[in-house]
Amino acid sequence: MRIVIVGGVAAGMSAASRAQRHNPRAEVVVFERGEVVSYGACGLPYVLGGQVNSFDDLVARTPEQLRARGIGVRLRHDVTGVDAKARTVTVTDRATGRSAAEPYDRLLIATGVSPVRPDWARTPLKGVHVLRDIPDGQALDASLQGARRACIVGGGYIGLELAEALRARGLSVVLLEQAPEVAGRMLDRPLQQQVRAEVERGGVDVRCGVTVQGLTGQGRVSGVQTDQGQVRADVVVVAVGVRPNVELARAAGARLGRTGAVAVNLRQETSVAGVYAAGDNAEALHRVTRRRVHIPLGLTANRMGRVAGVNMAGGEARFPGVVGTGIFKTFELGVARTGLTQTEAEALGIKAVSVDVQSTDYAGYHEAARPIHVRLTGERGTGRLLGAQLLAQNHESVKRVDVVAALLHTRGTVQQLFEADLAYAPPFSGVWDVLLVAADRLG
Ligand code: FAD
Repeated sequence: MRIVIVGGVAAGMSAASRAQRHNPRAEVVVFERGEVVSYGACGLPYVLGGQVNSFDDLVARTPEQLRARGIGVRLRHDVTGVDAKARTVTVTDRATGRSAAEPYDRLLIATGVSPVRPDWARTPLKGVHVLRDIPDGQALDASLQGARRACIVGGGYIGLELAEALRARGLSVVLLEQAPEVAGRMLDRPLQQQVRAEVERGGVDVRCGVTVQGLTGQGRVSGVQTDQGQVRADVVVVAVGVRPNVELARAAGARLGRTGAVAVNLRQETSVAGVYAAGDNAEALHRVTRRRVHIPLGLTANRMGRVAGVNMAGGEARFPGVVGTGIFKTFELGVARTGLTQTEAEALGIKAVSVDVQSTDYAGYHEAARPIHVRLTGERGTGRLLGAQLLAQNHESVKRVDVVAALLHTRGTVQQLFEADLAYAPPFSGVWDVLLVAADRLG
């Protein structure tokens, strides 16, 4: 049994480890076009901001460690084609330029996403960056040495994490967002405004409703041209979204879903026999809406990879789906969401109702208590829990979003949330935790 995996990060390496463990007699080979495997891209903003010492610290396992565990790792090997009938992939060694056909019994496509680069960002100017992998992080880090002004284009979670990191390095930062507010894909409007206010408090010049038209500079970038004038910058980071890398899946003849990502069943099988897909390039079942969604995140990628690994090795595993949980921090503010926002629910025709509770995260009399805002959303009539959004000045306090996420997995109700026996002591929450207060008001 030969298991071939394309892509050696979260999904690919989880699959390789699981497959190898499940069937030690199988030959497991990972082809990775880049220089590094098995690392946490999620940590990149924290290396850039100085909270993590080096990019090397993000690496979970080196190729040597993986090889010692029986997993073949081929770095700088680009998979350029698939022949699903012959069960071979075409692999090009980037060092020599030589291509060869490699056979497989089971193939996993775990090729992730690529950052979207609008036309204006396809430029030979130095100082223009995206942030996806460790080499991107190293290039940005080098570019920031000696830089004074940074412009971040995109107010999603990566742009907002980077805003904090670049301010921590003493740069003046302008953040441009085309939408009316930042964090637009995660939160309802009133909460978006609070995130923006926090980023502004952190010293960032946030400009929303602005469209970038081009870049200026000679050799190196010197500014960003927008529909509302020029922004001076010696470093520009483009963080305007991602698109799934589906070329190989398409070449294999696999069906893509409505979202544009690879369509898979709960075993991570594509529509082509013997070909699996997992991670950021694949769709997942949303357990609240029962629709297929594309929400590219780390735990999902690891989990899908694990499921694919077991199944490819001859076992039986299923990916139960996601509920749209996400979390990030920008400056002092923790931001989290799970399930559906009011806006998302309404767009799907669901009769949703939300309550907002603004309180303190710990007992109000505790010196460390800080403001927390919970927006809880449920379905009118049925009482079904639909989602939650949280903002907190003690950023770790938004981690209580997990309580709601766990309930959403079991199609829980607002009443069940209210009845939950949540932990209480003054340095953690009020006796009636803010989630319970919200459930009580919504119920
Ligand atoms: P990837 O990590 O994209 O890996 C795919 C690999 O496939 C790449 O190494 C690529 O080189 C390789 N590849 C592609 N095509 C080929 C080919 N044809 N041949 C050979 N190799 C190929 N998620 C969270 O949940 N929480 C966070 O806080 C968070 N923060 C993030 C911050 C940043 C800055 C970034 C960039 C991402 C963050 N993420 C976060 C997302 C998370 O990193 C991804 O969900 C995860 O890395 C996806 O893993 P993957 O294996 O599916 O894809």
